[in-house]
Amino acid sequence: MTPQTKAYAAPSAKSPLAPFSFVRRDPLPDDVKIDILFCGVCHSDVHTARDEWGGTTYPCVPGHEILGRVVAVGRNVKKFKEGDLAAVGCMVDSCRDCHSCHENLEQFCEDVVFTYNSPDEHTGGVTYGGYSTNIVVNQDFVLKVRDGVDLAATAPLLCAGITTYSPLRHWKVSKGQTVGVVGLGGLGHMAVKFANAFGAHVILFTTSANKADDAKRLGAHEIVISKNEDAMKAKAMSCDFIIDTVSAKHDLDAYLNLLKRDGTLCMVGAAPDPVPLGVFSLIRWRHSLAGSLIGGIAETQEMLDFCAERGIGCDIEKIKIDYINEAYERMIRSDVKYRFVIDIASLK
Ligand code: NAP
Ligand code: ZN
Ligand code: ZN
Repeated sequence: MTPQTKAYAAPSAKSPLAPFSFVRRDPLPDDVKIDILFCGVCHSDVHTARDEWGGTTYPCVPGHEILGRVVAVGRNVKKFKEGDLAAVGCMVDSCRDCHSCHENLEQFCEDVVFTYNSPDEHTGGVTYGGYSTNIVVNQDFVLKVRDGVDLAATAPLLCAGITTYSPLRHWKVSKGQTVGVVGLGGLGHMAVKFANAFGAHVILFTTSANKADDAKRLGAHEIVISKNEDAMKAKAMSCDFIIDTVSAKHDLDAYLNLLKRDGTLCMVGAAPDPVPLGVFSLIRWRHSLAGSLIGGIAETQEMLDFCAERGIGCDIEKIKIDYINEAYERMIRSDVKYRFVIDIASLK
């Protein structure tokens, strides 16, 4: 009999995460089975576990910043063998045949299967994520991890990394440009690192004055406390591009006003409530308001390789699984430097 997979799950929107177990499918010919070593804690896990976006099926096993070692492969798998490092991000499958899939943009496939809380054709239930001891994933959605990288610091690249890397690449952020990053959390601190690595002048907009020193160390050239109206006014029309990583409702006009003519404000933060917007901040200087969703598999691999070559990882606080509910509370209070990563050994 296939042994049970140990996990932590949210039993309902209102209850804390608690121990849970279930059975993963045996690897199919194209599957890779991964023994999970580390899993990052994304704010999307909180939104989903607490049903803040709607549509959560319970029990819900979150976790989509997964890194581990291959323990079994199906007979068609050539890319991976037992013992290899491997990683899984926010997606575990897609249709493979739509325009988005053909363009390596699986995240926009209408039939994309997310790593948790998506219908699971193999079980008839929903997919269960990385707050668990192992996972079985089709080889096309498994990423390669180079030997020698810091494993725990690499895990959050699978969501926080690619979600910030992809829009900065798409909007061609480069030397000579000024880039604003709003919010210094898991996504924000990676946006600062990437924008700096791509050669931009980086301004961090934060509500937390106590993060200023860290922001400099991470690669921000200027820090603006967004609650200070005068400091915000002083930066009017200063940015070519802004990436907004804020997880809660906030004023978009304040950030649109920071853009130069023709500048773009790109939302990656996914506040559950609608955000207010006065259209004049778009009209007056031909500003664009955009959004971006994680990144495709090929680009995720490119990002992991870029990070391995440059020695870029996430700044993390390693936790045991039984700290997860406290970690959620701290994340909501913006008290995280800058990503919690679960040591899955604490679940085994
Ligand atoms: P996080 O670590 O909690 O960081 C969010 C940061 O936003 C906080 O550290 C804080 O930064 C700032 N913030 C929080 N509440 C705020 C408020 N009320 N007003 C102003 N600023 C506030 O979260 P994360 O994991 O980086 O995720 C951020 C958001 O991105 C979440 O909504 C998540 O669901 C979403 N997300 C989207 C994608 C995508 O594909 N688009 C992928 C992953 C995550 P300061 O202390 O510096 O102000
Ligand atoms: Zn995420
Ligand atoms: Zn597709």
